[in-house]
Amino acid sequence: MNLRTPGPIPCPDEILEASAKQMINHRGPEFQDLVNNITQGLKKVYRTKNDVLTLTGSGTGSMEAAIVNTLSPGDTVLSVSIGVFGDRFAQIAEAYGAKVEKLTFPWGNAIDPDILQDTLSKNPDIKAVLVTHNETSTGVTNDLEKVAKVVKESDKLLIVDAISSLSSLPFYTDDWGCDVVVAGSQKGWMVAPGLSFISMSDRAWAAFEESKMPKFYWDVGKAKTYLDRGQTPWTPAVAIMYGLEISLKMIVDEGLENVYARHKEMGDTVRNGVKNIGLDLFANESCASNTVTSVHIPEGIEAKELLGTLRTDYNVVIAGGQGSLDGKIMRIGHMGQVPMTDLDEALGSLKAGLDKVGFQPNYSGARG
Ligand SMILES: *Cc1c(COP(=O)(O)O)cnc(C)c1O
Repeated sequence: MNLRTPGPIPCPDEILEASAKQMINHRGPEFQDLVNNITQGLKKVYRTKNDVLTLTGSGTGSMEAAIVNTLSPGDTVLSVSIGVFGDRFAQIAEAYGAKVEKLTFPWGNAIDPDILQDTLSKNPDIKAVLVTHNETSTGVTNDLEKVAKVVKESDKLLIVDAISSLSSLPFYTDDWGCDVVVAGSQKGWMVAPGLSFISMSDRAWAAFEESKMPKFYWDVGKAKTYLDRGQTPWTPAVAIMYGLEISLKMIVDEGLENVYARHKEMGDTVRNGVKNIGLDLFANESCASNTVTSVHIPEGIEAKELLGTLRTDYNVVIAGGQGSLDGKIMRIGHMGQVPMTDLDEALGSLKAGLDKVGFQPNYSGARG
């Protein structure tokens, strides 16, 4: 199957094989080596000197961890959202009693740093800013370097969802001044779903000391204490960690700059490919993501029928739209080590599948 969803993504064979190994004692020396290797690798990919903790749970779990470990009920938080995952961050903060101010931008577009700056200067009560680096629901990448600069200039805590970007797109945790950054294993890290990661700056740890939101499973204080002795507080997803140890080595060996360049090339290939088929991109091309491409479902075509045909007749799985974009867009994932032939095959199948469901690309144009 050519799995072209924006997570989970296909895992390389050596990673799958590593994950099939026999279990070890998670309170023993073998695990200590495993978790220490993983932590070193994660720090390289995060490009940080800060603590990076590995949590067992999906990406949303680490988003929840980011909130409950740095905030208190009643704190004013600015949620900057450009899609479904940005909205989710706000919902989590609200669920734990934060006072959430919302700054939203039209779906398909990125954050305007000037508007963000203006909002922050008018709301001195804001303690923290929630940002999605790469909005997977719309296929848009924010200019996080600029966003972070604005947030840091106004001296707020910066909490970033980098779940569909970190390990694939350029990311500089320390240079950009990101206080808390979360990521998830089933995206560009090329392993199975079930692990998530969270980095904490000194400022984030200071916020942790004061935070009063309830926490137990996600308590990063416990996670840090255990990590210092090469353990995790609870039984972790050991099998996924075996795979992650290999994937981190693959990423570091390839070189982060090469990984970023390859994703740019994949993004260009898919964007050009869908345009050549006669489809329209959904995301504004100036901020289109290099890990996921969003495409308008053409007029007169049923999204369900198209995606179903691609799956059953061509063995290609493409994601549909989320929330209000359900039925309106499709999303093609291109994170991790994707052979270019897989992308070409997916694009060829998309063209053939569209033809099968009755798409006429030059409908209004001249036809011989
Ligand atoms: C996938 C994703 C999530 C959610 O992760 P889960 O692992 O499904 O909980 C959150 N934010 C972004 C940007 C994502 O791409």
